[in-house]
Amino acid sequence: MEPQDTERTERFRASVRAFVASLTPPGWRGIGALAPIEREEFQEMTRAALAERGWVAPAWPAECGGAGHGPTELVILVEEFTAAGIPFGSDNDEFGVTMLSNTMLRWSDPALLRRFLPRIASGEYVFAQGFSEPGAGSDLASLALRAERADNRWVLNGQKLWSSGAHRANWMFVLARTNRDAPAHRGISMLLVPLDQPGIEIRPIRNLTGETDFNEVFFDDATTEFNLVVGEVNQGWAVAMTLLGFERGATALKAPIRFRNELDRLIELIRERGLDRDRDIRRRVTWSHDQVEKLRCHGLRTATALIAGESPARPPPRSNCSGASTTSEQPSWPSRPRPA
Ligand SMILES: Cc1cc2nc3c(=O)[nH]c(=O)nc-3n(C[C@H](O)[C@H](O)[C@H](O)COP(=O)(O)OP(=O)(O)OC[C@H]3O[C@@H](n4cnc5c(N)ncnc54)[C@H](O)[C@@H]3O)c2cc1C
Repeated sequence: MEPQDTERTERFRASVRAFVASLTPPGWRGIGALAPIEREEFQEMTRAALAERGWVAPAWPAECGGAGHGPTELVILVEEFTAAGIPFGSDNDEFGVTMLSNTMLRWSDPALLRRFLPRIASGEYVFAQGFSEPGAGSDLASLALRAERADNRWVLNGQKLWSSGAHRANWMFVLARTNRDAPAHRGISMLLVPLDQPGIEIRPIRNLTGETDFNEVFFDDATTEFNLVVGEVNQGWAVAMTLLGFERGATALKAPIRFRNELDRLIELIRERGLDRDRDIRRRVTWSHDQVEKLRCHGLRTATALIAGESPARPPPRSNCSGASTTSEQPSWPSRPRPA
């Protein structure tokens, strides 16, 4: 059965559609058709416009920096953005809103939520992810960056690698070794570390296309407050698993939109240049189409599970900024409204 909008949701949908139209120029072909620099500019502009309306995290309560909307409004927002070829939420928000804040809603107390969530939603705090290291990629638990307590601060020494967007961020959630005597998974904590300080050096990595979205980040007696730990000290592995659940959920749902756009653009170019009879190019395009479709199906499966009430991450949300128990996480998936 096709879901029906009520009068109220129809009004909301119309306002979102008008908002999306105000963001996109005539001839808009989706975000995947933009060059990297244009994409960044477009995302920044969209982000600012969303923040003005409390729509960066629409399902959060107002005291957390959201708009206090229900799941239906959120679904409408995601649907209208998706229909226009725009993943809902910028790449920067992946880290701060989708991954970190949802994780904090499960692991942090209201005081920490009140301090961070509104600033993340407004864009004042932009986060990067500090997990991978030169000797800790797939084997993440072997990470070596260490954090030691000195009075009421942590002192951090070591290196992170492949930190996407760290050059645009002013904070990083960092997995650090806080107990070197414990087994690998048990001596890790997730710390919130300001990047704008003398002990931090961010070095961009230039990739094959000339872009510099990844970074190496060096910590040389960098510090952060002792209470800026997500979850308990040495509980960071479980906290990281919660966060990776959100990362996977978001990737499965948003990435196919961008990849589909990019592939459609590529096919256009191939036709324009008269290469569409080339057997090798046809084979490669077919392979790419197949990959995008697989990812899209995986996204749909994730969305179906979420609509059925399953979350991409455990444990369930603990409290919100006012301390009340809540289910108001910021879902990170497009879906259809439930049938009436
Ligand atoms: C687009 C992108 C963005 C990223 N952004 C971030 C970020 O913001 N922050 C961050 O912390 N990290 C980020 N990463 C890093 C990513 O999480 C790492 O690439 C990942 O952890 C893998 O580590 P690695 O590259 O060191 O590969 P390795 O661990 O060295 O693996 C290399 C290859 O060996 C295989 N392999 C490894 N171990 C085994 C084994 N035991 N048995 C068989 N095969 C094995 C792997 O499957 C892989 O094919 C990003 C990566 C990508 C691609």
